Amino acid sequence: MTGSTIAAISTPHAEGGIAVIRISGDKALEIADKVFHTVSGKMPSEMNGYTCAYGYAVKDENAIDEGVLTVFRAPKSYTGEDVAEISCHGGIYVSRKILRAIIESGAEPAQAGEFTKRAFQNGKLSLTEAEAVMDVISAASERELRFARSLQEGAVYRRIKNIIDKIVEILGSLAAWADYPEDDIPEVEPEILKVNLCALQNELLKTIKTGDYGRIIKEGVSAVIIGRPNVGKSTLFNLLSGCDRSIVTDIAGTTRDVVEERVRLGDAVLRLWDTAGLRETEDIIEQIGVNIAKERLERADLVLAVFDASEQLSDTDIKLLSDLKDKRTIAIINKLDKSLDNDLKERLEGEFERCIGMSAKEGTGLDELREAIEEMFYKGEVTPEMGILSNERQLSCARAAENSINEAIDAIDAGINLDAVTVLLDEAAEELMNLTGERVSEKVVEDVFSRFCVGK
Ligand code: GDP
Ligand code: MG
Repeated sequence: MTGSTIAAISTPHAEGGIAVIRISGDKALEIADKVFHTVSGKMPSEMNGYTCAYGYAVKDENAIDEGVLTVFRAPKSYTGEDVAEISCHGGIYVSRKILRAIIESGAEPAQAGEFTKRAFQNGKLSLTEAEAVMDVISAASERELRFARSLQEGAVYRRIKNIIDKIVEILGSLAAWADYPEDDIPEVEPEILKVNLCALQNELLKTIKTGDYGRIIKEGVSAVIIGRPNVGKSTLFNLLSGCDRSIVTDIAGTTRDVVEERVRLGDAVLRLWDTAGLRETEDIIEQIGVNIAKERLERADLVLAVFDASEQLSDTDIKLLSDLKDKRTIAIINKLDKSLDNDLKERLEGEFERCIGMSAKEGTGLDELREAIEEMFYKGEVTPEMGILSNERQLSCARAAENSINEAIDAIDAGINLDAVTVLLDEAAEELMNLTGERVSEKVVEDVFSRFCVGK
């Protein structure tokens, strides 16, 4: 179906216990006959699928190494084609020499991700499932692996397919009505159509929202520490990162740059930023720092807003409170070791869903902070099985589909004819089929698989 037979070393290019050289394509077993001699004398091309044989990898009848040949027969293989895998000793030179013998016998070197690409082209995997293969390989924690596995098992595919089916159903009713107006097919009521489209839009918006979670799983929670100068932001940053990364002094305006550190706090991984204290300043460098802090604030998943327990709220604090209205924020009442202004506590508890008393200097309150973050980002309604979008490609398809549905709803509101709605719904379905890979351009497919390693 895909023409050529390809081969590559599928294990890392390093010394190890074993190396695996994989051959896939119509000629895989014919080539295996030339490069592998079984001890039993049975030809690889006579072996059944899912069987293996001990023997020797050979070049021009000379043994290169002893090893095991495993045979998979189409369509029951990773790629869906005939596959032969030679497991040999894990040496770089020896595995390359076997690969060379295979290529001289008629195989072509596989491109990055080409085995998985063939699996996709042969219908073994959807595009999101293929992307999940990469996520499984790069998973660095139990949680990441769980999400990658459910992506691989088709959780995202099913979620998106479900939405596509609903769009197709609506398109069907629109087409039936448009094509056979004289028949007894009930007229499509714009009101009912709109209700259905709004439900679809909601489902898409929820799906897009899962992308935040997907990013957090892979990259961690981006958390920015803000507050006015001297409340103890850098002290907190150093406490969390476990080292004296950020300079602490009692001189307001010490931190001017944005300092970043990857921090593990219990179950949570934070990409933590310390920032310049928010205040009006004449100092040009400090002002740049303040501007960067504001920009980081916009992009962060979480804001740690620090206040000084012993002081009343200042104008800057009050301004800060109003800026944080739409952000997930934990208020930190720092310097509890000094004293606590009760009005301040009451006021902050009224403003924020979570307030935590700490002494960054003495290291108290850390457990409570950890629990709050775990609860906010790692527990609750999101589960792997519901289908979490895992990369920018998937997100941009989902956003484009949502956009088209939104325009379709606007078109209904504006009383525009239903043909226009049909076109927009077609576009939405198209985008979602791009996402799952059902109807995707070769360019996108190339792009997805170019990120794989050779041999996968
Ligand atoms: P920033 O300007 O917000 O980054 O504040 P710094 O972390 O530089 O701290 C300003 C001053 O407050 C320093 O002298 C710190 O030692 C002090 N400080 C920070 N946290 C605490 C705390 O929890 N308790 C007390 N007593 N002092 C603290
Ligand atoms: Mg500082």
